[in-house]
Amino acid sequence: MLIGLDCAEPSLVLERWRDELPNLARLMERGRHGRLTSVVPPITVPAWSCMMASRTPGDLGIYGFRNRADHSYDGLFVANGSAVKAPRLWDLATRYGKRSIVLGVPGTFPPRPLNGVLVSCFLTPSTESQYTYPPMLRREIEQVVGEYLFDCTNFRTEDKDDLLRQVYEMTDRRFRLAHHLLRTRPWELFAMVEMGPDRMHHGFWKDMDPGHRRHDPHGRHRDAILDYHRHLDTLVGGLVEEHADDDTTVLVVSDHGAKRMDGGIRINEWLRAEGLLHTLREPEPGQATSLAELGVDWTRTVAWGEGGYYGRVFLNVAGREPNGIVPPDDIERVLADLAERIAAIPGADGEPIATRVHRPEELYDEVNGVAPDLLVLFGDLSWRAVGTVGGPDGIHTFENDTGPDDANHAQDGLLIMAGPGIEPGAAEGMHLLDVAPTVLDLLELEAPPTMRGRSLLRTARVA
Ligand SMILES: [Zn+2]
Repeated sequence: MLIGLDCAEPSLVLERWRDELPNLARLMERGRHGRLTSVVPPITVPAWSCMMASRTPGDLGIYGFRNRADHSYDGLFVANGSAVKAPRLWDLATRYGKRSIVLGVPGTFPPRPLNGVLVSCFLTPSTESQYTYPPMLRREIEQVVGEYLFDCTNFRTEDKDDLLRQVYEMTDRRFRLAHHLLRTRPWELFAMVEMGPDRMHHGFWKDMDPGHRRHDPHGRHRDAILDYHRHLDTLVGGLVEEHADDDTTVLVVSDHGAKRMDGGIRINEWLRAEGLLHTLREPEPGQATSLAELGVDWTRTVAWGEGGYYGRVFLNVAGREPNGIVPPDDIERVLADLAERIAAIPGADGEPIATRVHRPEELYDEVNGVAPDLLVLFGDLSWRAVGTVGGPDGIHTFENDTGPDDANHAQDGLLIMAGPGIEPGAAEGMHLLDVAPTVLDLLELEAPPTMRGRSLLRTARVA
């Protein structure tokens, strides 16, 4: 029984709030628990697919929600489940005749056949879509929960009361459906993911964290994240209580953690200031504008970037991009120089921030699809990357171009694993890629040799 809590933060769940979350604390006492190092980038897409397949973003060729399809300048496309070619846990379970219930795991729309049932994820366009396997399951879901909610309509909103209402409604319906499926379907593997913690962190972190630049000590929503975690703890406890027997191993996992977001670094504005990026038109005075709106003068542009929780930089390479100008022999030199200068971009007050800049080849053994030439984690993700140019701000901004957002992702998620034969204790050195081999081990199935991780049952690393 694998219960995924998107964005659940180890320093909160495993440490600070341990006494507030009795059901999770009980699982921790019974089992192994600790930080679960995520992939780079630690982003929902691809992280859950990496976890379920034990393959890296490079293996899957998925580097974020949006990816380049080719080396044209056409922009990015959203990677849905069709982009995941590697077998995931339920595909392998199916191959060996085991039955699965899969609920809301990111990367499962559109649904594919399996031995069992599947309800697709938060990237499902609407309940009008064919979002279940088998297709008839949709009607049953409507009878059990009414309208099923994949996600909040917009979590980057100023209407915080509405966001709260939506998150609770979404979570409650998902757990109600989980109970129903566990009651009515036979299973050897149950895997669900709840998006609520992620939406709460992005929506309410500033209310909780006195270190956040917009923190209001008298705000009404100071305890919103904690209260939600208490609620979630009760729901998780209910599932375990009712559906996990003595032979069941329960895993509670997250795909990455969360941390305060200090602001945004405007990667394209910086490239423009450095003379490496030229737009065809100038932005209107005071108007932050996307590159797509202004047009890029590719004949003079060395590199351009994409914003998001992490930044990506693409080189305009001769013979690779349509109007590339960087000679292939120069790629190494240009990237090394760019990486060093980007890593040195300071925070808003000139302070050093621990930016990590990676080449895909150094992160992954295999690099499929079209990877960014540089993956940039500004301030170790205390800063996000922003893609617009022009406007009132310089390199730094405290406005989010896509709406208010208080939190960024942190590199480590968490894992709690309790069940027969699991040695209890705090564990170190666990990696997200180890989850699928561990689950296969529990199911007494062999992990394919292409999986990157190792079963945690075989690596005794309890501290
Ligand atoms: Zn996530």
